[in-house]
Amino acid sequence: MENKKAIEKFEKVISEAKRMIFFGGAGVSTESGIPDFRSVDGLYSQKFDYPPETMLSYTFYRNHPEEFFRFYREKMLGYDAKPNAAHRKLAEWEQQGKLTAVITQNIDGLHQAAGSKKVIELHGSVLRNYCEKCREFYTAEHMLVSEGIPQCKCGGRVKPDVVLYEEGLDQNTLTDAVNHIADADVLIIGGTSLVVYPAAGLIDYFRGDYLVVVNRDPTPRDKHADIVLQGSIGEIFSSL
Ligand code: ZN
Repeated sequence: MENKKAIEKFEKVISEAKRMIFFGGAGVSTESGIPDFRSVDGLYSQKFDYPPETMLSYTFYRNHPEEFFRFYREKMLGYDAKPNAAHRKLAEWEQQGKLTAVITQNIDGLHQAAGSKKVIELHGSVLRNYCEKCREFYTAEHMLVSEGIPQCKCGGRVKPDVVLYEEGLDQNTLTDAVNHIADADVLIIGGTSLVVYPAAGLIDYFRGDYLVVVNRDPTPRDKHADIVLQGSIGEIFSSL
């Protein structure tokens, strides 16, 4: 197996690492049973008139809020998902003082559920929802049981704290991510094909010793990586 040698090398890198950063994408969550809402699949088109990319745009949120929240409740909330071996291993490395942050494109809060403390959420989180008028906070559970267009006590509309298509990433979050990547000695990229910009461009700030890529399929970064591991990230991380 090609992976066996790569895993041995990875283990040596981990044992010497002091400031690892994990940069993760949808593949980390799909192994916990959360579908990648950015990839179109048949299930969506059976129940909705628009593709997910359209429904998750800011224009759609403004113009078709009822349909937006129907999609939000059905497809983005209410998964009884648990952290998998990859989430748990990352929390463990942080606790051991080897890993300084997880940077994620996922919005499900599973890293925190596994015990990770420093999690930079590039695309926000469905666990946070805010009134557009008074900023009152609402939980995912509240959103799930609300009907139609969720309203705050003040009458304002409650918006998920999620970066929709057409919306920019939060500047402070981006700066935080850049600083952590620039300061890292090891950067592990996992569960992402690195096609979602501008998030994917962040890894250009890395100037540490080892770039590690863990993914099911080949990625454009593989040729620049010091270690490439192909397969299930949960299985690979649990073997470490
Ligand atoms: Zn309000």
